[in-house]
Formats: sequence, structure tokens, C-alpha cells
Amino acid sequence: MKMQTTEGREAELKQDALDGLRMRLRGPLFLPGEAGHEESRSVWNAMIDRKPAVVARCRGVADVITCVQFARDNDMLLSIKGGGHNIAGLAAADGALMLDMSLMRGVWVDSQGKVAHAQAGCLLGDVDRETQVHGLAGVLGFVSATGIAGLTLGGGFGYLTRRWGWTSDNVVGMDVVTANARLVRASSDENADLFWGLRGGGGNFGVVTGIDYALYPVGPEVVGGVVAWPASEAPKVLELYRTLAEKAPPELTLVALMRPAPPAPWLPKDWHGKPIIALLACCSGRPEDGEKLVAPIKSFGKPIGDVLVRRPYAQMQSLLDATQPKGRRYYWKSEYLSRIEPALCEKAMAHAATIRSPHSAVILFQIAGALNRLEEGHSPVGNRDARYVLNITSAWEKADEDRANIEWTRRAWEDMKRFSTGGTYVNFLTEDESAERIATALGKGLGRLAGVKAKWDPGNMFRTNRNVKPV
Ligand SMILES: Cc1cc2nc3c(=O)[nH]c(=O)nc-3n(C[C@H](O)[C@H](O)[C@H](O)COP(=O)(O)OP(=O)(O)OC[C@H]3O[C@@H](n4cnc5c(N)ncnc54)[C@H](O)[C@@H]3O)c2cc1C
Repeated sequence: MKMQTTEGREAELKQDALDGLRMRLRGPLFLPGEAGHEESRSVWNAMIDRKPAVVARCRGVADVITCVQFARDNDMLLSIKGGGHNIAGLAAADGALMLDMSLMRGVWVDSQGKVAHAQAGCLLGDVDRETQVHGLAGVLGFVSATGIAGLTLGGGFGYLTRRWGWTSDNVVGMDVVTANARLVRASSDENADLFWGLRGGGGNFGVVTGIDYALYPVGPEVVGGVVAWPASEAPKVLELYRTLAEKAPPELTLVALMRPAPPAPWLPKDWHGKPIIALLACCSGRPEDGEKLVAPIKSFGKPIGDVLVRRPYAQMQSLLDATQPKGRRYYWKSEYLSRIEPALCEKAMAHAATIRSPHSAVILFQIAGALNRLEEGHSPVGNRDARYVLNITSAWEKADEDRANIEWTRRAWEDMKRFSTGGTYVNFLTEDESAERIATALGKGLGRLAGVKAKWDPGNMFRTNRNVKPV
């Protein structure tokens, strides 16, 4: 059968080599046409349609080592799928051996030491579910079906970021199968250079098989949810967002969303599809304090829907899931911001008013706090001056709507990028980004990352990612 070499040439993969691989693995191997292949190769963004030559659904570290050794021996391109949520579809590559990590979803919690060890195939919801048993949580993202590996390796932010920093700031160690097919530990005590590179440098250095996260007391009940108003109220609601966010304690995270109303049961039917503005809030501190903090939101104007209430933290962590299903077509543009300026709010409202699809949105996430207190070189994720994230997200169903939606996104971004800190989130980059923008997203640590790459992956075996060339 045909495969791609690491350098991207087409080559022949011998049947006996494949048979040998199948025999050495504990997990299943899927060729095109075999049950499981389609499910593994498909990723969250339906714009991506890549065709790996073989999929190995690894059942443990030994399977990962076997696959890396096989890719080395056969000079075969390798790709790694965590949750498959990367918008650019970096988990899949044509002609590659895809390592699908979805069978490696164990989580072990040390409640005394406040550390969770999670296998790298976990989704965010897997970790939250297990840590919440102990009233603990790690710093993860907003949608529970996202993979922990891709999110953490690129930085990661969510409702707890204001208190404890990027997700990667809260990693205490990782287990990694490196390019020479050996398992190593990366932490501040062992292979510290590798540990530095993994916290923002993506999958450039090996296959991560396990991640240890620092945990903090959170929940089980928090105050969180959404309040929505008609888009005509957006000027006043954005001003409320701006002023509340600036003085909010780190326990409170505020997100502003402008979009057509989704068909959610908490919104009146006659509002579905009509333009709204919503504030999403999560107060991860004591619920009684949270209720006081969100009171100005709940009492503001005449909302058309309000589900900002006491709820389990694990439920809060999946509140947005239904708005981001796998299988739609997606295109995003994003920038880090140091403040919310009135002029930016005006632009955001104007572009939200011309959205081309019922699933698209202009979103402002608040992340200011702990991440700003660490020095820039603490890890390659950098961007220690970022206080908000602007994400212009379009989502639609049919290929013939690609152009209109992509054009809308790009136009809005061109108009708003002047408010950027100059940094952008590597995990939000789409397939068509320029080399310059990818380098910008990899940040000021790029030179140092290239050195770490040269030591750990001199042949650039791990390249189906935001690639750092070994120097
Ligand atoms: C709906 C949605 C919501 C999101 N919300 C947030 C959010 O709240 N906060 C946030 O920070 N980000 C968020 N993201 C972005 C997210 O961080 C990235 O999409 C991330 O890449 C997802 O990780 P994954 O494991 O699912 O990715 P995949 O698509 O599986 O992989 C992405 C990259 O990571 C590499 N990789 C995956 N697993 C491994 C591994 N075990 N070892 C080495 N490399 C590996 C892959 O090779 C690939 O290059 C969101 C994305 C989506 C689609």
C-alpha cells in the first residue's frame, strides 16, 4: 500500500511490515475501509478531509513506542490524534501512520498531593469528572470534548485561568515517547529543557502519553451560566462587560458573545436565530460570593434569557458543548488583547451584525490574572501581556457556504486586528495561516524551541503540528 515518507514523498509500505505491526500492538490497527478507520481519521472540523494510510489506536505506552519505532524503521510520516479538536486538523495527515490516543483515557487523582495523572487521550471532561469527585479541578478549557493533549501543549485557557494561569503553567510533569522510541519523563527536575518546550511548543518533541496537572479546590458548586439580551442592547451590555471585567476578582471570569440566538431551551422560541448579546460568567469561588459578583449582570436591563445560577462545576465545564458539535465546517481568526477599548466594541458589534451563519459568533474571553504575573520566558506559551482573547468564529453546514463565511471572518479580523497585543493563540490558528503568523503565534521563545527540537527530534520526525525546525 502507499504511504508518505517523513519528507512527504510517496512510498510503498510492505504488507508483511504492516502484518508485523498489527501483531505487536495491543490496540487495533485500521486500514482504509476497515471499521474504525473513518471514525479515527475524521476530526472536529469538517473542512479537513485527510486520509492517513494506517490508524493505530494505541492501548498504552508500549503501543506508542511500537508505533514510533515502526515509523522510524519505515521512514513513515506520523501524526498524533488527541481529541481531534484542532481547527487546522493537525491530528491527521495524508499517507501517515496516525496514532489515535482515544483508548488512553485513564485519570488517577492524588487528592492529598492535589495532582491528577491523565493519559494523553483524555478529553477535558474526563479529567473534570474524576477530579470533581475530590472537590478539585485543574485549569482546563471551555468545551468538555476538547483533547487535553493538544490544548495543554499549545497553552490552554478556561474559567480557572485568571486564578492559576495557562493550563501549561499548571503542568507538573509529562511522560513522553521521544523520536528514538524511548519513554522519558519531563518535569522541572528531569529533562527540564524538554519540559520547558512542551509547555507551548506543541507536539514537536514526541508523543506525550501522560500529563500530571496541579489541582485546586473548586466546586462542586459554582455560580455560572449565561444571560442574554437583544443585540440592540449591545452597546450598554458591552460597556457593562468592560467595567465589570476590569474590576472583577480572579475568581470571576466573564465572556461576551455576539451571535444569532441558538435554539436553546432557555431562550424563547421566537428569538431563535435573531441577533443577541450574551454574557457568560463563571465564579469559581464560594457560591455566596459568586451570587453577589454576578448580581449586576442579572439585574441589568430586560434579559430575554437568564441561566446564570448555582450549578455543578462539571456542568459549567460542558455548558458550551452543544454550540460546538463535531462535523460542522469551521473557520476562526483570533488575537490577544490587552484591554477592551470602546472602539473595539463598536467594531465587534458592527461585524456581529453581518454574521453569515446562525452558528457564528464574535467572542471576547477574559484571561487576565495569574498568567500576567509570570515572566515571558517561563515557557514558550509566553504572551504574558494578554488580558483578553478575541475570537471571530464562523461555523456553517455546507461546502458551498465556505466562501461567504470565510470572507466574513477575514473581513472582521482585518478590521479588528489593530487592537491586538501582536500575539495570537497557536491553538486557534486555521489551516491557511501564513508562515509569518505561525511564527508569531509560536512567540518569542521560537529560537530556544528550535534548540530543544534539535536535541530531542533532530530529524524532525514530529512535524504534523505547528512545526519548529530543528536548529
Ligand atoms: C470547540 C473547541 C473549543 C475549544 N476551547 C478551547 C478553550 O477553551 N481553551 C483553549 O485553550 N483551547 C480551546 N480550543 C483549542 C484547543 O486547545 C485546540 O484545538 C487543541 O489543539 C485541541 O487539542 P486536541 O488534543 O483535541 O487536538 P488534536 O486535533 O488531536 O491535535 C492537535 C495537535 O496536538 C498534537 N497532539 C495531540 N495529542 C498529542 C500527544 N499525545 N502528543 C503529542 N502531540 C499531540 C497533534 O499532533 C496536533 O499537532 C478549543 C477548540 C475547539 C474546537
